[in-house]
Amino acid sequence: MNDTPSEASSGIPAQERLDRAAGVLLGTACGDALGVPYEFAPRLRGDQTPEMAGGGLGPYRPGEYSDDTQMAACIARAFAEAASGSGPGGTGGAVLRGPVLDAVAENFLAWRFEGASDIGTQTRAILDAAASARGAPGAAEAMLAAARERYESGVLSAGNGSLMRTGPVGLCFLDDARRTADAARLVSSLTHADPLAEEACVLWCEGVRAAVAGGGFTGVRAGLDLLADDRAGYWAARLDEAEQAPPEAFAPNGFVVTALQAAWSAITTTEGGGPGHLVAALENAVRAGDDTDTVAAIAGALLGARWGAPAVPRRWRAAVHGWPDLAAPDLEDLGRRVAGLPASALSG
Ligand SMILES: [Mg+2]
Repeated sequence: MNDTPSEASSGIPAQERLDRAAGVLLGTACGDALGVPYEFAPRLRGDQTPEMAGGGLGPYRPGEYSDDTQMAACIARAFAEAASGSGPGGTGGAVLRGPVLDAVAENFLAWRFEGASDIGTQTRAILDAAASARGAPGAAEAMLAAARERYESGVLSAGNGSLMRTGPVGLCFLDDARRTADAARLVSSLTHADPLAEEACVLWCEGVRAAVAGGGFTGVRAGLDLLADDRAGYWAARLDEAEQAPPEAFAPNGFVVTALQAAWSAITTTEGGGPGHLVAALENAVRAGDDTDTVAAIAGALLGARWGAPAVPRRWRAAVHGWPDLAAPDLEDLGRRVAGLPASALSG
């Protein structure tokens, strides 16, 4: 379930919980915008500090985020509308694999044709394959089928494109790890049906969920319990590797496994216990090189969940923005609204 956060249910102050929920999309967007100028460019040295200077693949304006956050916003808006009862399904007991998932799929398609400033290969292939379902019932089923077919055909389908946008899914069921995991798999499989992509989303969403609900970063490791035993062993070894090497050791990071490792490394190898950790770890994530905006967006969702929106520096808050006309307060609001999602809107 996911009642409006309260001190009684979580054991931590309600405001703190809401700040953390507000930090998920804001952290994603800040990491994304910080990484945009350096995507596939020469890697920054340790003494160079990344700035939200724009450019990149868009090219983007200073502070503008890219496809990672645009797609996260598509997910969050569908969930937030369901939570408020204004979207399809509303509070009438809609199931995730139904109107709400269709709303996510519709938002993806609207973004593809009206908002996408850049787009990954796998995501483009699936959204184009499902384009004819736009506006009709069953858009999600068309997308799931296209993604499954592509994976089963042997095309490499384990890119980082579903992990980069998965943060808000961790807010859907703040008090239910198993349901969070099911939602993470399902939303991933809209475009990325490879089990590796789904498993990465399970781990990261559990990290986000646990960080918002109780603080800390241990949720990513605790998420291993949500995987089958052999898969938990595989991912435990990957997390071990990430904690023992700097983020650049996991480049190229277009593969979902190395993207997760680079983000986890950026977080766990950064010094600092306080909110300053958010900044240090995001800068560290950008120094991973290669797909810089995506690695930092992935890290940003978890860092925002852990340290909350107030940990985001004022200069970043003032600069960050992007499609569909969202600025920092909107991103914070969206996160809070998803976290307020009643259980009835996404159960089943
Ligand atoms: Mg991007």
